[in-house]
Amino acid sequence: MKHLSIIVPCYNEQEVIRESYRRTVLVMNALDIPSQIIYINDGSHDNTRQILNEIADNDSRVKVLHFSRNFGHQPAVAAGINKCNTDLAVIMDADLQDPPELIPQILELQERENANVVYCVRRSREGDNFFKRITAKIFYRMMNSMSEVKFPLDTGDFRLIDRKIMNQFNQFHERSKYIRGLISWIGFKQVPFYYRHENRVAGKTKYPLNKLFQLAAIAFIYFSNKPLRLAINLGFTAVIVGIVLAAWFTLGKIYGFSNAEPGWTAIITVITFFGGVQLLTLGILGHYIGVLFDETKARPEYIIDEERNFQ
Ligand code: UDP
Ligand code: MG
Repeated sequence: MKHLSIIVPCYNEQEVIRESYRRTVLVMNALDIPSQIIYINDGSHDNTRQILNEIADNDSRVKVLHFSRNFGHQPAVAAGINKCNTDLAVIMDADLQDPPELIPQILELQERENANVVYCVRRSREGDNFFKRITAKIFYRMMNSMSEVKFPLDTGDFRLIDRKIMNQFNQFHERSKYIRGLISWIGFKQVPFYYRHENRVAGKTKYPLNKLFQLAAIAFIYFSNKPLRLAINLGFTAVIVGIVLAAWFTLGKIYGFSNAEPGWTAIITVITFFGGVQLLTLGILGHYIGVLFDETKARPEYIIDEERNFQ
């Protein structure tokens, strides 16, 4: 018989964990397959740790990983997948924006379609403000035009994955993981499930703008080398423009159709233009070199401080 794990990353979620656990357990009790929860406490500095330990002490189906510090949402989910020993896993947020009540339908769809991945697509983005909706829309569409794998639109990490996917995922050694991208990249049979993204039940978002941009940068750099090619194209265009300009000024001088006194404007324009091109190119190169640097260091992606109920 298949077993299910529910992987839930938690960072400073003291306001929502009990309610999240309560609703998840209700769903688990009604399932006809055995299930467990894996909570990853991503270095919270509120009472998340105590609350999770208390829950784990009273329910052996609850496993908890405590990170030694805040490593971020993606490493937390990665740890949950690495530690998962069941045939199926659902990745879910702690804040109930992804309702656990949908799990039975997701499982049913997986079974019916014999899918390896059921990714949940947000039909509405309840609880996300206008800015987040717009940036998310732009991001997903840009991503798709730049990357060689196609990513489903309006999809977060809320999804069901099976053992085949998890085994592949566990082989990845890249340090910064854009998990939904990697799962799309793995392939096999992936089917969508449409749902309504709810409001956070309590607490504030743990994804401020800078973290969102970091995630977007990882997604771009790890899944597309078009920015690199863009640098080459820009450089090439600049050279052509330079040649044309030089030719124009020279001919202008010979035949007298351009201002005989080129003066400052032209020089300054050209210097600024080329300076800009060089800086931009260097910046893009620098970004990739930074990623290479991180990867060659091959540091572990996360460090576990303590494990509960893992035997
Ligand atoms: N999270 C985490 N580490 C972080 C940030 C977030 O484990 O550094 C968890 C958080 O507790 C939640 C999930 O990741 O369960 C998604 O975060 P959040 O709901 O704040 O993001 P939003 O839904 O606002 O994009
Ligand atoms: Mg949320």
